[in-house]
Amino acid sequence: MAVVLAGARSVEQLEESAAYCEASDEEKDYAAAFASFPRVSWQGHCMYCSHCEPCPKYIDIADVTKFLNLTKAQGKLPETVREHYAVLEHHAGECIQCGTCETRCPFGVKIRENMLEAKEVFGY
Ligand code: SF4
Ligand code: SF4
Repeated sequence: MAVVLAGARSVEQLEESAAYCEASDEEKDYAAAFASFPRVSWQGHCMYCSHCEPCPKYIDIADVTKFLNLTKAQGKLPETVREHYAVLEHHAGECIQCGTCETRCPFGVKIRENMLEAKEVFGY
């Protein structure tokens, strides 16, 4: 089951959201809208959800992956990211490549590869 939490900045927006309750079945059928969306697959992309935890080496996989992805997106290692990585209690270099995290990741992220890459990028 999925639930949408609608936010509202005004009474009008709230009323627009609440109108769903009185919409016809035809109006509530959003299959056509979904069908018109581009086919986006999140497979292999980290959502930073931490479902892969716990790690036997206590690595915060979501944080390490986030800092790795930020660095890759910028094409260099920003000082702020380096500092945030430094204060993590455990680092990618501690990964023993056991792979248990990958059995729990709903998005098929190659976590072991990411830990190796993070060790390379951050140095530990
Ligand atoms: S590696 Fe997978 S389970 Fe872990 S934080 Fe990323 S998406 Fe979530
Ligand atoms: S593969 Fe590395 S990051 Fe994943 S659970 Fe094992 S030690 Fe932790």
